[in-house]
Amino acid sequence: MLQPPHSSLQVAAIPHQRVPVRDRNQDAPWHTEAVCRRDEAGLFFAPSKEPTAARLSREEAAKRVCARCPVMVECREHALVQPEPYGVWGGLTAAERRVVLARRRRRDMELNKAARGTIAAAG
Ligand code: SF4
Repeated sequence: MLQPPHSSLQVAAIPHQRVPVRDRNQDAPWHTEAVCRRDEAGLFFAPSKEPTAARLSREEAAKRVCARCPVMVECREHALVQPEPYGVWGGLTAAERRVVLARRRRRDMELNKAARGTIAAAG
């Protein structure tokens, strides 16, 4: 089933609802099980001067590949932590990853602020 473009962000907030059940070798590096290892269709990175409609279509096709990838969670986290500035990684476009990272930064700031408030109240 196709995912609407906005669903990836919702999934990013609740990744376990989309994580496929898998049986993989936990000792192997995650990228050895990537289903996109041979991106022969060129789905994951934009060619130069790609029109918007073509980009959206290509990204959706890439996300469909990601949706059946056994290492989607590891891939997504890698791309967020690096951060990877280009391409579809772990079912998220670069723009979607920027949104996730901004949310994480906001959450971390709020947690730090709450922790400082707790320390100040105790002291
Ligand atoms: S989640 Fe997508 S980009 Fe990441 S390894 Fe799998 S197919 Fe490739």
